[in-house]
Amino acid sequence: MSVDGGGQSSEAWAPFLMGNGSTEVGGPLDMARLRAALEVAEVHPLLCAVAHVTGRLDVLRADLAPDQEQMLVPGRGLGPEQEAEARALAADVLEAHASSGAAQHSLSDDDQRRIFDFMVGASSTSKWEEFLKEELALGGSDLRAPTWHASELGRSEPYRCAVVGAGASGLAAAHRLRQAGVEVTVFEKNDDVGGTWLENVYPGCRVDVPNQLYSFSFAQSNAWVSRFSAQPDLLAYLQQVTKDLALGECIEFSSEVAEAYFDAMAQRWDVVVHTNDGESRTEQFDALVCAVGQLNRPSFPAIAGRQRFGGPTFHSAAWDHSVTLEGKRVAVIGTGASAAQFVPCVVEQVAHLDLYQRTPPWLLPTDNYGDPFPPAFHDLLALLPNYGRWDRLWQFWLMHEGLLPAARVDPEWDDLSESVSAANELARQMLVDVLRAQVTDDVLFEKMVPRFPPFAKRALRDDGRWAAAASRPHVNLITTPIAEITADGIRTSDGEDHPADVVIYGTGFSASAFVAPMRVFGLGGTELSEAWGGDARAYLGITVPKFPNLFMLYGPNTNLVINGSIIVMVECQVRYIVEALGKLWRGGYRSMACRPDVNDRYSAEMEAGNALMAWGVADVPTWYRNAKGRVTQNWPFDLHSYWERTLTPDLADYELA
Ligand code: NAP
Repeated sequence: MSVDGGGQSSEAWAPFLMGNGSTEVGGPLDMARLRAALEVAEVHPLLCAVAHVTGRLDVLRADLAPDQEQMLVPGRGLGPEQEAEARALAADVLEAHASSGAAQHSLSDDDQRRIFDFMVGASSTSKWEEFLKEELALGGSDLRAPTWHASELGRSEPYRCAVVGAGASGLAAAHRLRQAGVEVTVFEKNDDVGGTWLENVYPGCRVDVPNQLYSFSFAQSNAWVSRFSAQPDLLAYLQQVTKDLALGECIEFSSEVAEAYFDAMAQRWDVVVHTNDGESRTEQFDALVCAVGQLNRPSFPAIAGRQRFGGPTFHSAAWDHSVTLEGKRVAVIGTGASAAQFVPCVVEQVAHLDLYQRTPPWLLPTDNYGDPFPPAFHDLLALLPNYGRWDRLWQFWLMHEGLLPAARVDPEWDDLSESVSAANELARQMLVDVLRAQVTDDVLFEKMVPRFPPFAKRALRDDGRWAAAASRPHVNLITTPIAEITADGIRTSDGEDHPADVVIYGTGFSASAFVAPMRVFGLGGTELSEAWGGDARAYLGITVPKFPNLFMLYGPNTNLVINGSIIVMVECQVRYIVEALGKLWRGGYRSMACRPDVNDRYSAEMEAGNALMAWGVADVPTWYRNAKGRVTQNWPFDLHSYWERTLTPDLADYELA
């Protein structure tokens, strides 16, 4: 896989654009091949790419523009005939351009704005323009790069920053901080990068956000094999980014940060590192960035007798590939996103499968989930300059609000038990209909229908494989609560024993503990977990009062559940941190700690926002809430508001020293 960090130069495409009969993929320009490739394009990003490469902005016809009210519907308001017309128009314009011998059009700001007008609707462009430009990153333009460099600050010794974790967010932080001339050490407990995409190797593991968007704006790739990549592809992408950006040179693998203490005298963090060879040492850093993720500490249910089970047993996040499931009686506890991916993959191997369900999940029908792109899609990426970038931006726009409107609570809505608004009820009915069509057995259907509002818990992308697996004759979906685990299997609360050879926990993660098990001590020696008291809060999900120069990525209330990609959020957070440090150091200060009143106001806003969302009102277990019942995970607003708030750090929000 190669990652396009530098963008596509017009030279790379010159043979095609000059119409001299050859293309980057070799051989003469084959219009039949190009036309075939256009067939698999989504027409809206296609027209954007055609306008871009040819300068023929007249292809952005009003009658072919997406209907912004129908962004979740295939065609986005266009019927099949209009789509065919758009494709034919694209092909004709490209052919004419190629044969004219003209070079790739040089896009002006005004041209770019006109393409945005077409994509997002002219009334939205002014609000979104800067954000769109950053995400599009044309020609590799890196609009989120640091606006300062440490060499300008005149300090004789380097600014040093520790980043904990070399998953996606840690890599992004390391890259940006290094761009700013900060000396970075990334401590990673594993022996490779990738974080969750390194650790989760269960069968069927794949992303549920289109991976063009689940990748960095500064390292866009045309090499994805499918819209929703499998774990090995995501890991390969992160490894490639690491290589391309030479991040490996600042990562210390097999090294876990156990504790960190803020030294108020030195205004620095003492970071205690344990290495896998049993050594321990303390290093000082000017700033500490925690990039440890939210969903990485496997959670085991508090079920009696868990240690008593005599056979092999493991968690989905630590899949034991040495255990053969062939011909075995297997018990799976949990029916969340992880189980929904591995159960369909193992169901045909096992002799019998007991599936223990406490809460049935809502399933989001996604026909192509798991399918590779057709070969013509790769032709399209190769033949049409910048199609990959416009396609990525299109995914961004499709998801910028996503299903948020269908998850918002209507205060006038009477009964919140199964839906929270008319739009939510409509979604509920549609999802029930899809499930009904998949499950013919009435008893099974009743067990599988969620009795809570859609989107109150994470809805699972599914192409019908979950219901198909649950419907297999050797699969038993057990909804009677588990009473205990015995040496030979599982006993349910009705006293029935269900023998099992293997028990697999698909029981998720301890999401609310945030930086745990790392122990972080701020001003006055207060430990972060103590300051939080089991109820994590952080300003912008990034900074915490009394913990100077401590920054979190993917911290409290930054989880996106039905709109956008966490990678976008992380890029916003990383920019905020880097720009804040630049301002801090330029101003002659050494440390910044969020003002308590700023943090309190912000937390109250999160609480009020989440209270208006399905997950804020539904009475259903979810990792979105902590043990106190507060939603500490989710960002309740749209992407733009987070982008805007993190665009320009305001040091007035901080106590400076
Ligand atoms: P999860 O969504 O938290 O699901 C855990 C499952 O275990 C739930 O069905 C839960 O039931 C059940 N469970 C927990 N304790 C139990 C008990 N004592 N008895 C019976 N059942 C019990 O965990 P996950 O599936 O690992 O997913 C976590 C998150 O990771 C997802 O929401 C998603 O954000 C992310 N993820 C993403 C992907 C992807 O991108 N494709 C894949 C995997 C995970 P209740 O529902 O009743 O609590």
